[in-house]
Amino acid sequence: MEHKRLVVALAVVCLLIGSAYAVAKLIPASVDGSKCIGCGECVDQCPAGAVSIGDDGTAVVDKEKCTGCGKCAKSCPVSAISTE
Ligand code: SF4
Ligand code: SF4
Repeated sequence: MEHKRLVVALAVVCLLIGSAYAVAKLIPASVDGSKCIGCGECVDQCPAGAVSIGDDGTAVVDKEKCTGCGKCAKSCPVSAISTE
C-alpha cells in the first residue's frame, strides 16, 4: 500500500515538472528592439545558444532553441529581453 502511494506521488511530481517545462517552452524570450543596446550579455548567458546579435545590432532569439529559462532577461542591463 505504501509502495503504491509512493508511485502515485512520483507520478504526480513528474506530471507537474512536465507541465511546468511545457509552459516555459511556450514562452520563448522576446526582444524589444527599441531598448536593446546590442551589448551581447544575453548571448553570453544563454545556455541554449538561442540568442545572437542580428544585422541591425540588436539581439535575436531563435525560438526553436529557446527553452524559456529566463537567464537572458536576468542578465540584460536595460530590460530589453523577457520571457513574459
Ligand atoms: S530564455 Fe533562456 S534559452 Fe531562451 S534565449 Fe533566454 S537564456 Fe536563452
Ligand atoms: S543583454 Fe539586453 S541590451 Fe544586451 S544584447 Fe541582450 S537584449 Fe540587447
